[in-house]
Amino acid sequence: MESLFNSFKTVLWPQRCMFCGEPMFDKADSTCERCVDTLPYVTGKICTSCGRGRSECTCSSSTLYYDKAVAPFYFEHGVRKCIHSLKFRSRTELAEPLSEYLLSAFNKHYSDENFDFITCVPLHPDDLKQRGYNQSHLLAESLSKKLNIEFKSDVLRKIYHTEKQSGALPLERSGNVLGVFDVDENIDLNNKKILLVDDIETTGSTLSECGKMLFLAGAEKVCCLSVAVTKLKKKGRN
Ligand SMILES: [Zn+2]
Ligand SMILES: [Zn+2]
Repeated sequence: MESLFNSFKTVLWPQRCMFCGEPMFDKADSTCERCVDTLPYVTGKICTSCGRGRSECTCSSSTLYYDKAVAPFYFEHGVRKCIHSLKFRSRTELAEPLSEYLLSAFNKHYSDENFDFITCVPLHPDDLKQRGYNQSHLLAESLSKKLNIEFKSDVLRKIYHTEKQSGALPLERSGNVLGVFDVDENIDLNNKKILLVDDIETTGSTLSECGKMLFLAGAEKVCCLSVAVTKLKKKGRN
């Protein structure tokens, strides 16, 4: 009887693909077959400074304070929609299936690393209060369970409100977010190898600023993993 009810339920309220919203009658998965084939995966040889494919990399000589950054996707199409739903529409249940893709990127790029713990890019307390959750926290926590690596949530703190005051901060305008983050000095970071998780990587300056604070506090290694990296327009390509 219950299985009959479940099959009715599946027909009436099928699970939907987390990227395109198409109904799926195979409940075991969160990604439809079409999306599996067409999602904007980061493929081929990548630049480990920015995590983009070589053809999309715009890295100059500017120093980034982390060892490596990778992402399974480019921030496009269904991936963009899905991350927006997680971030702005309280679809917190998407963190779990998205972390499956973090896991595959981890297995591809970081399987030889020995991380002491996983942490995430923090939100400013005002934003956290407003949103009620930090999407990067949810992603990192879910990944940590899959990897069986400890998750430490409050290693980094965002002490400066970049969104509201970015116009007033000259360093921010130059793509720098110096002095925006701080570390919890009660947490021992000495010689620690850290995996830093975020939802979207754009210029890498947020990851770099977080990395800088972790290194200043004694960390030995900081590797970054985001769900998606934006495609940047190359200078002179238009
Ligand atoms: Zn789909
Ligand atoms: Zn690059």
